Amino acid sequence: MTVFEELKIRSCPVCFDSSENASLFFEERLDTARLDSFSFASRKTPEFMSYRLFRCAACRTVYAAAAPPPDALAVAYSNAAYDSAEEAILAADTYEAVLQPVIASLPQGARALETGAGTGVFLERLRAAGVAEVVGVEPSKAAIEAADAKIRPFIHEGIFTEEEFAPESFDLICCFQTLEHVPAPKELTESCLRLLRPGGVLAFVTHDYTAPINRLLGRRSPIIDIKHSQLFCRPSLDKLLASAGFVAEKIIPLANRYPLNYWLRLSPLPAPIKRVTLRALALLGFGALRIEINVGNLVAIGRNASPVEGRVDARGFRNGFRRGHAP
Ligand SMILES: [Zn+2]
Repeated sequence: MTVFEELKIRSCPVCFDSSENASLFFEERLDTARLDSFSFASRKTPEFMSYRLFRCAACRTVYAAAAPPPDALAVAYSNAAYDSAEEAILAADTYEAVLQPVIASLPQGARALETGAGTGVFLERLRAAGVAEVVGVEPSKAAIEAADAKIRPFIHEGIFTEEEFAPESFDLICCFQTLEHVPAPKELTESCLRLLRPGGVLAFVTHDYTAPINRLLGRRSPIIDIKHSQLFCRPSLDKLLASAGFVAEKIIPLANRYPLNYWLRLSPLPAPIKRVTLRALALLGFGALRIEINVGNLVAIGRNASPVEGRVDARGFRNGFRRGHAP
């Protein structure tokens, strides 16, 4: 069975506004003969296939009005091949840098969860930064097999479900480049709120379909892809976090910090020019120079701002109020 055999009609997956109110964003372009195990891999050569995409009039999320059902997606992601180890490491550098203030402010004995953990590179970073307990959830068998033996035991194989974890048991939940892939992003965000302790942080990294690079590339942007059932922008992430009960603390463009020779390899330059330039960079010793480029991603930080039950601060105040004086 392919994921295309049973597409389900749906409303906006963030605000549930009907697709009848939405405007057409891109027409469908599917070629099932070209599907392979890399089609649902996290990083891959672009195929330029997409569902029929709509843009929600209410929250501006772009979404496939007919998307594969959750069980078909689960099978596709379970069997997805795993590709670039190098990019996973470079991406973890970027995420670690942007989340440094959040990680530094985590309490003693903090617990962190990553949904779509891949090979667990970021989980390793969290442990190295002093996070007491880390858990990853990852559907791709191939990604887990490629994980370092030290971190593999901390990665649960499968699709993230709230029931697997105790309520209010995490201080940080990370979901990087995964929200586009899930069948129900609003439900996932609400689950995260319930799994976070009061004061806990949810961190998303998503593509931004309104970013200049993605507008420029249009249909040829790698974000227009069958593994993306929805695409976000700042207003849609704001709506997603707020409507799930989070306080959106930050939604900002994410600059990826990659070595110059890596950027060059990603670039659309012809192969002979790339080869010559890469050789020149190596000779000059500039290849490893880290360069920040905004390639059209967003980082969104939401906080569970619900009051801490029964927490009494040093002044004897409960939840910031003197006993009996709470509003
Ligand atoms: Zn919407």
